Order: sequence, then C-alpha cells, then structure tokens
Amino acid sequence: MKINVMTDILEANDRIAAVNRQLFDSHKNLVLNLMSSPGAGKTMLLEKTAQALRGKLRLGVIVGDVETARDKERLEKYDLPVVQLNTGSACHLDANMIASALPHVDLTNIDVLVIENVGNLVCPAEFRVGEDFKIMILSVTEGDEKPLKYPLMFRESSLLLINKIDLLKYTNFNLDEAKANARKVNPNIEIVDISCVTGEGISDWAAWLSGCYKRKFGTNSLA
Ligand code: MG
Ligand code: ZN
Repeated sequence: MKINVMTDILEANDRIAAVNRQLFDSHKNLVLNLMSSPGAGKTMLLEKTAQALRGKLRLGVIVGDVETARDKERLEKYDLPVVQLNTGSACHLDANMIASALPHVDLTNIDVLVIENVGNLVCPAEFRVGEDFKIMILSVTEGDEKPLKYPLMFRESSLLLINKIDLLKYTNFNLDEAKANARKVNPNIEIVDISCVTGEGISDWAAWLSGCYKRKFGTNSLA
C-alpha cells in the first residue's frame, strides 16, 4: 500500500481553508494571500496600500513571520487592524494557522484582508488559507529568471507586482524578460510595475484591488 502523506496534508488543509473562506465570504471580506521572497517589500506595500485605500476600502492584515512582531508594529502606525502570527520553525502559513488567528480579527470592520505570508518562494504557494486570490511580489533586485526557477508560485498567483522599479537602472534585471518568463509559466497572470518608494504604480494596484472587490460584492465599498 502506498500512502501519499503530502496529498493527505494538503487535503486536510483545503478543508480548513474552505471553512475560513465561508467565514470571509459571510463577512464580505476580499482576501488576498500575499507571497514573495524575504525583503521583496510585502510590508512596505501594505503601508502604501493602507494610504491608497484610506476612505475607500477598510484594510486589515494578518502577518506571518518566523519571529518578531516588527511588521505588526510598522503597520499599526497606519491605524490598521493587524494580527501577527509567529510560525516558529514553519516556513509558510497554512489554513489552520489562519483559523487560529481569526478569533482575533474583527472581520465585520474589514473590506480587504491581506494575509502577508512568510517570505519564501517555495511552499507558501502549496497551502490555501481561504483566500480569493494569491498574489506575489518579485523585486528587481532578485533576478528576472525567478519565474522559471519557482514556477508554482507564479502559476498560482493572479497578480504579479514587480517592485523596486526605481532601482531598475542599478541592476541587470530585464523587465521584459521577467514578464515573458512569468507569462511562460502562467499566461493569465496580471502584472503591475510598482515602486513603494516613489509611489509609481500604487494607484494601479489599488485600482486592481477595488476592481476585485467590486466584482466579488457588486459594490465599490461599504463606505
Ligand atoms: Mg514583512
Ligand atoms: Zn514551508
């Protein structure tokens, strides 16, 4: 008899993710699972997003890190509801970790919930947490070949944000090549160039978010 342990783990995870998803839907939350390598700019993106959505959509964040509450402290400066999950040795978030955080999240006062995953280009893509969409950041300091090396994450993501576009001239990152590589593994992926430092592209990203919210709930926001 052959037992596929990984399949069993993922099936159990998916069942919990489906329960999370029901809870999110019943609270009219658009939920995004945000993934990237460490240092690509996830937390800074959320700082910029908080400012871009102010007065339009209410943002909430669950942030996963192996250790520390630094990201929570950064984000709370923007008056956001933030729950920090410390994963200890785990290198990704799973549906059960999110389920355990949900009693601490006021879903009724959130329109868009972003789950900032642990910085890692590999296993976060394998675990659903109850999100509507997986999205990811690739920064220009990482290399344009990453979609080919870590195809699952790019295949699973609906949107790719290419960050640190202001640093392009200091790197040998080829923007066209990066986009071609991402589309090679996922022809449907949407791509937005951004810089969290200069603010370039942030309004396009905010428009993408509002569009998703509107398609899901048929309204611009609750405000
Ligand atoms: Mg972070
Ligand atoms: Zn992992």
